[in-house]
Amino acid sequence: MTTTDPATRKVASYDIYYTQILNPDASINGELPAFARDPQQLRAMYALMVQTRLFDKKAVALQRTGQLGTFAAALGQEAIGVAIGHALKQDDVFIPAYREYGAQFARGVPMSDILLYWGGDERGMDYPQGTAAYHDFPLSVPISTHVPHAIGVAYATQMQDRKAGREARVVLASCGDGATSKGDFYEAVSSAKVWNLPIIFLVNNNQWAISMRSSRQTGAQTFAQKGLAGGINGEQVDGNDIIAMRLVLERAIQRARNGEGPSLIEAITYRLHDHTTADDARRYRPEEEVQAAWERCPIKRYKAWLEAQGHWTAADEETLISEGTASVEAAAQAFRNVTPEPPEAIFDHLYATLPKSMQWQRDEVAARGPVKGGH
Ligand SMILES: [Mg+2]
Repeated sequence: MTTTDPATRKVASYDIYYTQILNPDASINGELPAFARDPQQLRAMYALMVQTRLFDKKAVALQRTGQLGTFAAALGQEAIGVAIGHALKQDDVFIPAYREYGAQFARGVPMSDILLYWGGDERGMDYPQGTAAYHDFPLSVPISTHVPHAIGVAYATQMQDRKAGREARVVLASCGDGATSKGDFYEAVSSAKVWNLPIIFLVNNNQWAISMRSSRQTGAQTFAQKGLAGGINGEQVDGNDIIAMRLVLERAIQRARNGEGPSLIEAITYRLHDHTTADDARRYRPEEEVQAAWERCPIKRYKAWLEAQGHWTAADEETLISEGTASVEAAAQAFRNVTPEPPEAIFDHLYATLPKSMQWQRDEVAARGPVKGGH
């Protein structure tokens, strides 16, 4: 609003910034950050993006052939997960939603564990000891419920790190655009700055909350500004630009590590797949919109730029696809080889001591024996 009333004056104003370095046409804005001048790192990021896409394709195929439960694909959003995976340190804590597989792979989650999880087996959340993922959280399908948990984790790590006089660990919680409409999200944002926690809220704005378009999800001009009410730095980044994505994340992580508190990053991307394999987006989403989004695909632009820089060749691509496909096939086979848990296992991880009201149900399920067909 504007006012000419001398009794009313402006007391605050804010700016929201957007960062994009690698454009969809593979041209560059501004200076490249240091990591983007290191061919080894550039190639590693590309390989992980492609690996994520190969995994995604296999997971969807397993679901379509009745071998996997519902699966949420990361198609078109690979740069976000890969940037998280490269920006976080080993001791930092990642608290994911459910499309940042690239980050999980980078932190040591085996592809077969992700398949196991979507195959309905709790053991797929038990990540291997000795990896960064071991102290991360499992992926969270319930919307935004993990975001307040992240506040608790950041509060605890901050207290422990201060007591031990060591460098602050950073907590990164990712969630979708739709998750920012939940009370859990606002409660977390509200607490984060009050306690000046070393936390990053990464909002993966893929334009759709299942069948709800972003413009119907919020009246706010950006999702980034949702941090402002909590006193948090909020900014936007092109989530399909791996270079900008990693740079903006690394800046926020460094601020958090320096004791400068939380940040909210809105990564703008597009969900090229259906919401999950249980959805058919053709029912609510125009095909032209999806086709236009393919032109902004994170892998396409990055590959074109790497090739133009002489950092990637057709032979590199061939090796990557062949090795990546083999590792995905091996993961699928490892998943198929897992002996399913007995059905009563669903009662075994929720309570330290199972309440009596559930004990008889567990007994009844156990008495029926294993379900035929396995995964
Ligand atoms: Mg969304």
